[in-house]
Amino acid sequence: MTSHSANSPHRRVLLKLSGEALMGQQAYGISGEVLNYLAAEIREIVALGVQVGLVIGAGNIFRGMAGSAAGMDRATADNMGMLATVINALSLHDALERRGVAARVLSAIDMPSVCESFSRQKAHHHLNKDRVVIFAAGTGNPYFTTDTAAMLRALEIKADLVCKATRVDGVYDKDPLRHQDAVRFDTLSFEEVLTRRLKVMDSAAISLAMDNATPIMVFDMNVPGNMKRAVSGEQVGTLIK
Ligand code: UDP
Repeated sequence: MTSHSANSPHRRVLLKLSGEALMGQQAYGISGEVLNYLAAEIREIVALGVQVGLVIGAGNIFRGMAGSAAGMDRATADNMGMLATVINALSLHDALERRGVAARVLSAIDMPSVCESFSRQKAHHHLNKDRVVIFAAGTGNPYFTTDTAAMLRALEIKADLVCKATRVDGVYDKDPLRHQDAVRFDTLSFEEVLTRRLKVMDSAAISLAMDNATPIMVFDMNVPGNMKRAVSGEQVGTLIK
């Protein structure tokens, strides 16, 4: 996997979207408008000739920690969270296919009447055919997050960049929504993210990225064209490497 696409320094990227990204202005669930926007943005990076793996969270529907805080068994609540990522994955799959972007959903929890089951071989097969591969159901294990799932899948498909699409334009030393004097980093090392406990991805995901030298670009997904700029090698947010 050494050749690059004509229009990007990257051959394969893993795009991580939070579940909350799908809500738009809503307080819960999936916004049709956001789905259309995301599908159009993803179509642009596919058009660059870049192969795209995608992991989506479920914060817009259900998070295991919230269930467990309310008294549920944690593993049961996490299973619910993983199932919720499948709902999000199906909605993105539909939005992409309606825009003419070939896509497949591979789930870490077997549900053959709904979508294909995950295997690394199948993922490579679809990616080699330039289909967007949406990895659903996280890692398939409770006590993990979709950030860790994103990093795991990135390594399995040998992605050369992880794009973490968020609602802020990079990583700050403190929460920019609450502190006016928050300072944004252009670049960061994995060690800095871990030692300063910066809220980017959970520490399991950052450790995996560090051990395997997989760079992460954190950027604001709500700026049209940002996804394409990030994949084209432009500095659009914070690069962790
Ligand atoms: N989850 C899990 N194992 C995984 C990935 C996810 O148990 O490998 C569950 C967990 O309960 C989590 C939920 O799925 O809260 C949704 O994922 P996440 O919180 O990462 O979503 P995001 O914050 O990206 O919307």
